[in-house]
Amino acid sequence: MQHLTDTIAALATPHGSGGMAVIRISGQNAVSCSDQFFQPVRGKLPSQMQGYTCSYGYFINPDHEILDDVVLTVFKNPHSYTGEDTVEISCHGGRFLSQKILRTVLSCPQIRLAEAGEFTKRAFLNGKLSLTQAEAVADLISASGENAVKYARTLRDGATFRKISEFSQIILEILSDLAVWADYPDEDIPGVDTNILGVKMQQLLSDMNQLMSSYDYGRILREGLHTVIAGKPNVGKSTLFNVLSGCERSIVTDIAGTTRDVVEEQIRLGDVILRLSDTAGVHHTADTVEKIGVERSLSSLEQADLILAVFDMSAPLSEEDKILLDKLPQDKTIIVYNKSDQSSNDFNQNLLLHFSPVETVEISAKNQDHITELQAAVERFAARHATPAEDGMIANERQRSCLENALSAVQEALDALSMGLALDAVTVSLDAAADALLQLTGERVTDKVVDTVFQRFCVGK
Ligand code: GDP
Repeated sequence: MQHLTDTIAALATPHGSGGMAVIRISGQNAVSCSDQFFQPVRGKLPSQMQGYTCSYGYFINPDHEILDDVVLTVFKNPHSYTGEDTVEISCHGGRFLSQKILRTVLSCPQIRLAEAGEFTKRAFLNGKLSLTQAEAVADLISASGENAVKYARTLRDGATFRKISEFSQIILEILSDLAVWADYPDEDIPGVDTNILGVKMQQLLSDMNQLMSSYDYGRILREGLHTVIAGKPNVGKSTLFNVLSGCERSIVTDIAGTTRDVVEEQIRLGDVILRLSDTAGVHHTADTVEKIGVERSLSSLEQADLILAVFDMSAPLSEEDKILLDKLPQDKTIIVYNKSDQSSNDFNQNLLLHFSPVETVEISAKNQDHITELQAAVERFAARHATPAEDGMIANERQRSCLENALSAVQEALDALSMGLALDAVTVSLDAAADALLQLTGERVTDKVVDTVFQRFCVGK
């Protein structure tokens, strides 16, 4: 695979001013080169230090001028994040200072600037992490909520890798039974019991399908709940959108139908991340532009994880409300009765008698009344739909497609078995399934796939 002989360095903390910054150097020259720009106050030079120890001293440039006082930590191969000799320099966190220190480090001819994700890529190539764990590192960095962190942590700890390894183990056991029988058909070896084989594969399929179903959870945790605010014009959708997103993004007017397109925003409501869409109102219209918006809003209802369906309490429910109700999937709809401040006697909820939403909340978006109740309802919904599974989850499209390939290969093996085809056909399909699982964990994967995975990391990780 790829070359690992050179030594790399990068700023591991964000660019900008802060209390401190960390510059990370990894590779076979990391320690020896550090001797050139570190002057210990009392302790040892980096090359004399043990792994997992640190030393306080001065960072000096090639002209022996002191640039900063720093703490230098040494990690010795293989006991480091990358599996290589690694040095971390903790310096003061000014943008100028940290860049100057990094430039001095890079003035060593043996050291070059790290590419995005290259430290983690090296950890993967050196066998410190599986590919699924490495991907979780990126998720951990970008996690924007408590549950998203828990989820990334579960993956980082190798839960998915362990689960996939269990599947691979079962496939290998079946393959080895088949191989023994195929290689020595004349020996006194009990024949393959196709019933037992069928049961084993059926169980495997069901376990793999269960893992596959975690994909949606993972997506929700990573990206947030795709949430649509729906309702006929003028019920207060834009006002609610603005309250929830905390800014004036949608145009709020008294003229029905002013929200013509889908506006999207990622917001945090309590501990839940929402990708919030404010759609054009669902109603009959002759206006072409608006019609497009309406069609889009209906398709966004189908794709949504959660719908906040808004109804106006200050007026009777109408035929248009009924049209919306007919389109709403009950199991992902929270009914929001808005304008509770102007609630009228004409308002009757009879239309909704046969509709069982997830929850019903009364609010006044304009006065921002009872928004915490709405928040609590959303949090309860999210807790049911996006709780990290502790025994592994499918985190992204790459993993999903590998698992899908493995699933259809096991299904093919099972079909071949039930059609009474030669056991060779079963073996070929199971081989393909094992291969797909090895690609998922990164144990058998091309450089191109590895490069694509690490491209989404930041430099310094
Ligand atoms: P949309 O067409 O559904 O997006 O509705 P808007 O958010 O544009 O609101 C339509 C009108 O209803 C505006 O004049 C809002 O100020 C008003 N409105 C929105 N929410 C409330 C509310 O809770 N109480 C009252 N009294 N008026 C509201």
